[in-house]
Amino acid sequence: MPYSYDDQNIFAKILRGEIPNKTVLETEHSLAFEDINPQAPQHVLVIPKGHYVTYDHFAAEATDAEIVDYTRAIGAVCRKLGVTLEDGTGYRLLTNAGPDGHQEVPHLHIHVFAGGFLGRMIKVPG
Ligand code: AMP
Repeated sequence: MPYSYDDQNIFAKILRGEIPNKTVLETEHSLAFEDINPQAPQHVLVIPKGHYVTYDHFAAEATDAEIVDYTRAIGAVCRKLGVTLEDGTGYRLLTNAGPDGHQEVPHLHIHVFAGGFLGRMIKVPG
């Protein structure tokens, strides 16, 4: 089934400037902003400006320019946070998709977690 994009999702509203955000970095095709409910000392979300629901949707349908911009924007956020291994002690990237991934906002976002030891990956319930 083809992806359908809900343009009333909260990140679409952020991109349209309808609700505020704490911008960390903006590029031609990407926006990074602080997560409103941080799960680590540093928690930033990086989103493409295009209407993509999940990572696989983006990987299949985004233009090469969007993919390059987004990939580089994520790296630039890590550098700006000072958490690359050149400047700091690391970070974690994570993206959720659909109900099994517990995706709350149906616009692709990569979480950048950092600012301290993050433990081992994930805990599966049950
Ligand atoms: P996910 O479960 O991967 O879809 O994560 C959605 C994330 O969006 C959560 O970490 C929320 O805290 C975050 N979030 C929701 N609304 C906002 C907002 N207005 N500004 C910044 N982050 C938000």
